[in-house]
Amino acid sequence: MHYQPKTDLLQNRILLITGASDGIGREAALTYARYGASVILLGRSEDKLRHVAQQVNAVCGSLPHWFTLDFAAATPEDCQSLAHKLSGLIPRLDGVLHNAGILGDICPMDEQDPQTWQNVMQVNVNVTFFLTQALLPLLLKSESGSLVFTSSSVGRQGRAGWGAYAVSKFATEGMMQVLAEEYKQHNLRVNCINPGGTRTAMRASAFPTEDPEKLKTPRDLMPLYLWLMGDDSRRKTGMSFDAQPNRKPGISE
Ligand code: NDP
Repeated sequence: MHYQPKTDLLQNRILLITGASDGIGREAALTYARYGASVILLGRSEDKLRHVAQQVNAVCGSLPHWFTLDFAAATPEDCQSLAHKLSGLIPRLDGVLHNAGILGDICPMDEQDPQTWQNVMQVNVNVTFFLTQALLPLLLKSESGSLVFTSSSVGRQGRAGWGAYAVSKFATEGMMQVLAEEYKQHNLRVNCINPGGTRTAMRASAFPTEDPEKLKTPRDLMPLYLWLMGDDSRRKTGMSFDAQPNRKPGISE
């Protein structure tokens, strides 16, 4: 994407990022802070989040709020309690990047382990929904809220072996479409990003033989991530965007 954001694109915007401890989410948190946002970091590892919080501090001179929440065990009540804590700290949320996700097993449907299947649905779909429900009141206080889900090319076209992960990403696309319709008359836009193959730990576990040097880095994707959180995308809702529109899905040769 050829997008040249203004350096103060996200000034005065308060954004929450899930899966902010690593990979694409970590890069998004740092980038949003660099463009002026106050970021709130969510992840499951205290040590990793503290480290990212320090990096954000180095970028913008203030330590962000950060919270641990293990999606594998999180309940709707945990998400409501987090939202309650947040409402005592911030007046509104201008954006949420739902980025946390797990891969599960890459194997045919008849070999998918039911427990792993449930874990993937729990992390990628259920808690994403619980959190969205809990955070909507804060999002609706924004004059221009942006709710961004993270999809995948296997969430639009099924692919053999991608089992629970692919199904969870179809569900994510569906969740985005339903919410976009429901909030059409409000100041809240709801969209999906498909990052496309990106150099992260998740990608390396999905394609262990792939040369990571052939992949874009999380930083390369940031123009789209910035655009969707800033006012330049204000009227876009119900859409699924590719961070790498010209990339063919599958392993990079
Ligand atoms: P990473 O594995 O690098 O990062 C995933 C993030 O999710 C980490 O912060 C991780 O925390 C967090 N997370 C995992 N499990 C839990 C949990 N139980 N509770 C809370 N947080 C959790 O993945 P990517 O950066 O590659 O992926 C980011 C998103 O992009 C995902 O939704 C993925 O499906 C999607 N995507 C990625 C592609 C790629 O090629 N990389 C392609 C298409 C889509 P921790 O640091 O503790 O592990």
